[in-house]
Amino acid sequence: MASDSESFDLSILGLSPVEGKRLELEAELGEFEFAGEPYRPEPQPCPVVVDVTRMNNGGWSLKLAFETTMRGTCMRCLGPAERTIAVEVREVDQVDGGEELDSPYINGTEVALNQWAHDSLALALPTQVICRPQCLGLCPRCGIDLNADPGHEHEADKDPRWSKLDELKFD
Ligand SMILES: [Zn+2]
Ligand SMILES: [Zn+2]
Repeated sequence: MASDSESFDLSILGLSPVEGKRLELEAELGEFEFAGEPYRPEPQPCPVVVDVTRMNNGGWSLKLAFETTMRGTCMRCLGPAERTIAVEVREVDQVDGGEELDSPYINGTEVALNQWAHDSLALALPTQVICRPQCLGLCPRCGIDLNADPGHEHEADKDPRWSKLDELKFD
């Protein structure tokens, strides 16, 4: 994707050491896929806030914050899901800072904003994108949507003889 290489240059900010600036930019967040289902963050491009601080050793400290709405398939019931996710991440890049302080998204004064935003969102995503916190999902036996029939049960589940048997086994 061509947009992945999109970057902005910190040198044009003309910051002196210890000076900082807040930038309002836009980032392409790209697309995501879980279990073969596409998930798309909206809007795109997404407004983002980048707080840039130039450190007194010549390095940079950056904070990226944005909010996006993820649309896709509920991982429990396979219905449509929509979830708002707030992302706030920090990167530090120091000259001779070693691996820990060498941000993969800051190369000299170039910031790979789209890649940074995409990766940060991937990490911030809940492991399950679901339609609502209390989504009941699908019946593991017959696959019907339990949200449409919350009382749904199979005979064996509530047959008192089975629970009696279970009690006996444990005694
Ligand atoms: Zn659901
Ligand atoms: Zn069922």
